[in-house]
Amino acid sequence: MESIYNKSFNELVTYFESIGQKKFKATQVFEWLYLKRVKSFDEMSNIKKELIDVLKDDFVIEDISLDKVERDVEVNKYLFTLNDGNHIESVLMRHDYGTSICISSQVGCNMGCRFCESGRLKKVRNLTAGEMVEQILKVEEDINMRITHVVIMGIGEPFDNFDNFKRFVEIVNYQKGINIGSRHITVSTCGIIPKIREFSLFPYQVNLAISLHAPNNRIRDMLMPINKAYPLDKLMEEIKHYIKITNRRVTFEYILLSGINDTEECANELCDLLKGLNCYVNLIPYNETNNLGYKRSKKDTISNFYDIIKKRKINVTIRREFGSKISAACGQLRSKKEDL
Ligand code: SAH
Repeated sequence: MESIYNKSFNELVTYFESIGQKKFKATQVFEWLYLKRVKSFDEMSNIKKELIDVLKDDFVIEDISLDKVERDVEVNKYLFTLNDGNHIESVLMRHDYGTSICISSQVGCNMGCRFCESGRLKKVRNLTAGEMVEQILKVEEDINMRITHVVIMGIGEPFDNFDNFKRFVEIVNYQKGINIGSRHITVSTCGIIPKIREFSLFPYQVNLAISLHAPNNRIRDMLMPINKAYPLDKLMEEIKHYIKITNRRVTFEYILLSGINDTEECANELCDLLKGLNCYVNLIPYNETNNLGYKRSKKDTISNFYDIIKKRKINVTIRREFGSKISAACGQLRSKKEDL
């Protein structure tokens, strides 16, 4: 049965109209769900019993359950069980500007990036928008605080689940609901070009991050199979088009893998590639996993790489390290749970 969290406000209005009810029922239900945060239809005390029974026949409320939390000072890692027994993860990070959550968008992932733990499990299915929304609700409940920022950078490729991603944004952005500003939402993709084109027309100002990880086709082909379908030159053209249309800054994520993509030559090549673009580069110290054999770059190599980019006047940061102690890195909790 469908989760009520899967419905946007407008869809709920349509639903109520279709069963001969007034529109304002949608407002009432949204208040119960997102302002009062009730967990059952029975608690919706301003809605008549007969209508509650109809809602119960048509929807479920709680659809995912919290299985396990690992806690550290700045980061919590959550493992959820879905109603079909699959597992996904979310990570909560505390910053000085607020709290951000990194959510999953699929069970498994088909992109097959060689360095990524999540992709060792092939895609089982897409998450519904409701399952993405519930990750936020459950984590907010756990920390008893509002989350201010969302990144869709957990397990899965959001642009391979594009419709649900869009619906998710509509739901969490709705003002009388969770009300997270679209500029506080970031979606990360490995570079599915046709979806970047569609995204450039998406009416919400969600930030775009591109998992680049290499300055040329030779290295990118080796690390990311998606580069065969959508090679770097085409990807860069598409990103330029996106920036032209939206006038928005793009983030490039670049994991530093020892001896693979972390040389000075790579840094310079990266600068050539990004010259003049409205962008910023986020260098990510690799979280080593037991299974994949890649090594994190040395500290000096990372800072040298950073300096080269900085000198070329491209905005660059080194990602603050969260959660490597609690195996919070990218798919590791799930793979431990399932003993993969
Ligand atoms: N599929 C999307 C979103 C999920 S991956 C994408 O590719 O962008 C989110 C980010 O985590 C990507 O940049 C990915 O390359 C990175 N990542 C994956 N495994 C990692 C690891 N072990 N250490 C650091 N970053 C990792």
